[in-house]
Amino acid sequence: MSHVFPRFKDAPPVAVRGEGCYLYDADGRAWLDGSGGAAVSCLGHGDKEVIAAITRQANEMAFAHSRFFTSAAAEELADMLIANAPGKLERVYFVSGGSEAIEAAIKLARQYFVEIGQEQRCKLIARRQSYHGATLGAMAASGPGERRDGFAPLLPLSVSHIAPCYEYGERGEGENAADYAQRAADALEAEILRLGPQTVMAFVAETVAGAGLGAVTAGEGYFKRIREICDKYGVLLILDEVMCGCGRTGHLFACEAEGVAPDILCMAKGLGGGYQPIGAMLCTGEMYDAVRQGSGAFRHGHTYLAHPVAAAAARAVVGKILREGLVARVGVMGGVLRDVLQRRFGQHPHVGDIRGRGLFMGLELVEERGSKRPFAPQRRLAARIKDAAFDEGLICYPMGGTRDGYRGDHVLLAPPFIISEAQIEELSGKLQRAIDRALAE
Ligand code: PLP
Repeated sequence: MSHVFPRFKDAPPVAVRGEGCYLYDADGRAWLDGSGGAAVSCLGHGDKEVIAAITRQANEMAFAHSRFFTSAAAEELADMLIANAPGKLERVYFVSGGSEAIEAAIKLARQYFVEIGQEQRCKLIARRQSYHGATLGAMAASGPGERRDGFAPLLPLSVSHIAPCYEYGERGEGENAADYAQRAADALEAEILRLGPQTVMAFVAETVAGAGLGAVTAGEGYFKRIREICDKYGVLLILDEVMCGCGRTGHLFACEAEGVAPDILCMAKGLGGGYQPIGAMLCTGEMYDAVRQGSGAFRHGHTYLAHPVAAAAARAVVGKILREGLVARVGVMGGVLRDVLQRRFGQHPHVGDIRGRGLFMGLELVEERGSKRPFAPQRRLAARIKDAAFDEGLICYPMGGTRDGYRGDHVLLAPPFIISEAQIEELSGKLQRAIDRALAE
């Protein structure tokens, strides 16, 4: 009997080897990693360069506590990120994953306002159908849904949720795309006014919505309007690029496509590419200076902040992405993936929408295409697709709750940046069989 506490009740197979876009179990059974786990394995598995960087760093110095030391790996990784970061982002706070990056962002936002004498600012606005992490603060920021509801009495923050910019599900009949994007953004202003502008600290949103909505890009002009509203009321803009960042959408920072820069940006997942657990919170020089010249210390920390081995892995991952032009490759292969999905599923009676950017794509499943009616949640279609795909030898990321946190189903795809055209064909074929099997059950 296993003593490992698994996430789900069925014990998973033991993975023993990873190579390129595939993972293998002890019997040699292969799975094509069509979602990079959960948008993690951007370089695929078994990358020799990253493994060598990890080995080197572990040999030289595995750990030096961040209370006493920095490391060349962390310094160089921060330089690399900031040299390419949008707007006025100037400082990087390294943590061990996405939830930690979000926690750090929320706490820095609060401390910033305390430092500059605006102590009344403590409220956070987020969006429904969002996922920001599993820790209590990040979970409070996440939209309502099954993952969050049972913990609601424990959630520590004052957070309100506005609708996301989700054209397929929420654009009105007769409303054009630009008007809808403005309306969705204007919901932020209405919420700030409802709460009292002087009490609002920050707005947090995924630049491209991932797990909760299935690769939904915002409509044209949405984030520009969001930025204007934040500036008008002195509210900080936190962009969560934990899933969609680090090249996945064809930009190193997903917000480049939106023409906006946040005050705080969170990354993780692809930053370490699965080789090490690492996340990062980037903030503006102004925010950093407020802390440095104020109390002098960010009142937040973890033992493994800026872990040298994790930083060395991420330095190798980001270095490779930049040096080998993999961000541009994501743009090209993303086009191939979109075309293949369109060819296979464009006329599928139960695929209502095919969306996304770069190698971050989503399919939304509906019972009826005309009315966009979702399947009943009791049918557990997303879970069935996940199981059928796994059985077909494909790892993908289906989720329920697309429409409102409870109803609706989508499949998220986020394959490694090194995926080939033949592997994209394989992915889409396996996915089609999995979807059709799950629908037939
Ligand atoms: N933010 C987003 C957008 C995510 O998708 C996730 C995880 O899926 C997180 C934050 C939390 O990251 P982690 O699971 O590394 O804590």
